[in-house]
Amino acid sequence: MLEIHDLSVKIGDKTILKDLNLKINEGEVHVLFGPNGTGKSTLIGTILGNPKYEVVGGEMIFKGEDITNLPMHERAKRGIGILFQTPPAIQGVKLLDLLKIIAKRDEKEILKMAKRLKFENFLDRDVNVGFSGGERKKSEILQLYAQNPDFIMFDEPDSGVDVENVELIGRIINEMLDKNKEPDERRKSGLIVTHLGYILNFIDADKAHVLYNGKIILSGKPKEILNRIVEEGYEGVYNDSTR
Ligand code: ADP
Ligand code: MG
Ligand code: MG
Repeated sequence: MLEIHDLSVKIGDKTILKDLNLKINEGEVHVLFGPNGTGKSTLIGTILGNPKYEVVGGEMIFKGEDITNLPMHERAKRGIGILFQTPPAIQGVKLLDLLKIIAKRDEKEILKMAKRLKFENFLDRDVNVGFSGGERKKSEILQLYAQNPDFIMFDEPDSGVDVENVELIGRIINEMLDKNKEPDERRKSGLIVTHLGYILNFIDADKAHVLYNGKIILSGKPKEILNRIVEEGYEGVYNDSTR
C-alpha cells in the first residue's frame, strides 16, 4: 500500500525527518510512537502532501505510484485519509452538509455510524465550531467514515478523549480499517500515532515503530514496543538502539 524510501523533510531550514524508511502492506495497521516534537505529525502531514513540509530527499510510493510530488487533493482522490491532531473548525458549514459532499457511502450508513458515536445531535452544528476535544475527534471519525479511504492516518485519536470514548473510538477505528474482517478480506491500511497506548487494547495493530530524532530507531510488535517505552523511556530505547 505505502512505501517510503529515505525520506528527508524540512520545515523552513530545520530538518525534521532524515532518511526515513517505512513500508505498510495492504491490510496492515502500524503504530507510530515518539516523544513530543519528534516529527510524528510531520511524517503524517508529508504523506498527506501538506505543502508546509518540504521533501528534500527520498520518495513515497502509494499503490505502486510515486506520489512524492502530487498535490494533496490528488492524494486524497487516490484513497489517503487523515484524522488530524487539531482539526480546523469551519464556520457556516453544517456537519451533515459536509458529510453529504464527501460521502462515498450511503447516507443511511453514515447516520447509523453517527448514532453509534452518540453524535447524531451534532449533525446540524457548524463543523467543529465550539466542539470539545473529544467531540472534534468524533466529528473527524465520522467524516473519515463517510469518505471511506483505503489508507487512513490517525494523529493522536485518543488525545483529549475520556476512557469510555477511547474504547468506542478504538473499536470503530478497528472496523474502519477492516480488522474485523477475515485476513484475506482485509484491504485497508492504517498508521496510528499515539502517546498513550491504551487505545491499542481495542485496535488490532500489526507493527509499531519508534520515531526519535527524525528516524525510526526501533520496530516490532506493538505491545512489546509499548512495554519497552514504559520501562526504559524514549531515551533508554534510543540509547539501546545506538549501542
Ligand atoms: P510531533 O507530532 O512528533 O509532536 P511535529 O511533527 O508536530 O512533532 O513537530 C516536529 C518538529 O517540527 C517540532 O520541533 C516542531 O516544533 C517543529 N515545527 C512544527 N511546525 C513548525 C513550523 N511551522 N515552523 C518551525 N518548526 C515547526
Ligand atoms: Mg505531539
Ligand atoms: Mg503531533
